Amino acid sequence: MKISSVRGVKDILPEEVWKWQFIESVSQRIMEDYGFTEIRIPVFEYTELFARSIGQETDIVEKEMYTFQDSKGESLSLRPEGTAGVVRACISHRRLQPDSVSKLYYSGPMFRHERPQKGRYRQFYQIGAEVFGTDNPWVDAEILSMLHLLFQRLGIPGTTLQINSLGCTDCRPAYRKALQEFLVQEEAALCTDCRRRTQTNPLRVLDCKRPDCKEATQGAPSVLASLCRDCMAHFEAVKEALGLMGVPYEVNARLVRGLDYYTRTTFELLSDQLGAQNAVAAGGRYDGLVEQLGGPPTPAIGFALGMERLATLLPEETNHSRAKPLYLAPLGEAAMERVPVLLHKLRARGIAVQTDYLGKSLKSQMRQADRMGAAYVGILGEDELSDGVILLRNMETKAQTKVPLEGFVDQIAETMSGEGA
Ligand code: ATP
Ligand code: MG
Repeated sequence: MKISSVRGVKDILPEEVWKWQFIESVSQRIMEDYGFTEIRIPVFEYTELFARSIGQETDIVEKEMYTFQDSKGESLSLRPEGTAGVVRACISHRRLQPDSVSKLYYSGPMFRHERPQKGRYRQFYQIGAEVFGTDNPWVDAEILSMLHLLFQRLGIPGTTLQINSLGCTDCRPAYRKALQEFLVQEEAALCTDCRRRTQTNPLRVLDCKRPDCKEATQGAPSVLASLCRDCMAHFEAVKEALGLMGVPYEVNARLVRGLDYYTRTTFELLSDQLGAQNAVAAGGRYDGLVEQLGGPPTPAIGFALGMERLATLLPEETNHSRAKPLYLAPLGEAAMERVPVLLHKLRARGIAVQTDYLGKSLKSQMRQADRMGAAYVGILGEDELSDGVILLRNMETKAQTKVPLEGFVDQIAETMSGEGA
């Protein structure tokens, strides 16, 4: 029987893995420059952690989690996102002290049982970052400027930053109530999910992708109109900082997030090149979550970006991550016998080198070297062997020189380091 992969998951094949590596290395560099350090958290946690942080009445917890019982009957879930685990880890290791700020980032696979489609998988990869310990609006702007810079460095065009404020525990209840009253009026036009959400999680109705629901909520009251003075001032300060830094943004008063824990600043980075699944990164402030999970009162803000969606946006010409190798082409058994030790010596000098193991013809070895993007090919045939040389071909200029076998490793090391290869 042929075994296939599970629906909604995908293999990242060698031809495209450079995209993941490139995104990881560029974002790692930027985040470290911004003072973030990495934390690696488990792929599964107690189900309760996600239920309590993300919220019972959210799509993720209601229907998207991979939940199972271990042999002791404990309910465990594969992580659908990273923030809950990071907060849990910080609390259990007592890393959240009053009057101190900590900045952490993570990356890795997340799991959600969603309907698979373009840009939507059941195992997908996120990179995320969190700042704990301050509600300073400059930090909100800093996170957004960091994302802006990241997208610039990755060379990704056509993204828009949308921001909103969802208020705090003081002003949100009044908005929730006003929105609920509005939605009850429009009930007939809403989908069944949204009718239910009207009671359980009315803000989520604004996030429904169905055209009918979008239409029906056109005239919904704006969350921005109901912000308390502090939340209003906070939002103004975020916008001012973004303006001063030259980070372009749009205010979208309908931007809510699918997770319950958000307060104040929320944001999404949208691409005009992705079709329906157009959000590349998203996040916001969650000032109440740490305390809600049993930690000390700790304001916080974070984001997560979807690597699959980012990978499809990477311009193909970005693929310059690999050093161009040397290719050794032995012809005949005697030459092949010399190759293993040569390879070993070259690699010990830090030279990327590959060869043919199958005794192929010169022509097909040259073709293979070409496919690998080799900078040089070292040809070692019977004639070369008896002359004690290797014929070194520069694949770009096509120039060929004879290099004595004796000093080959030294010479090639010099040549290739001179070219930055
Ligand atoms: P969406 O509105 O697309 O469902 P979301 O609000 O559920 O996104 P978040 O939980 O904020 O997404 O996750 C942050 C980012 O992770 C998203 O902007 C997206 O790029 C990516 N992402 C989320 N779910 C998936 C998925 N099932 N497959 C691939 N990427 C995803
Ligand atoms: Mg989703």
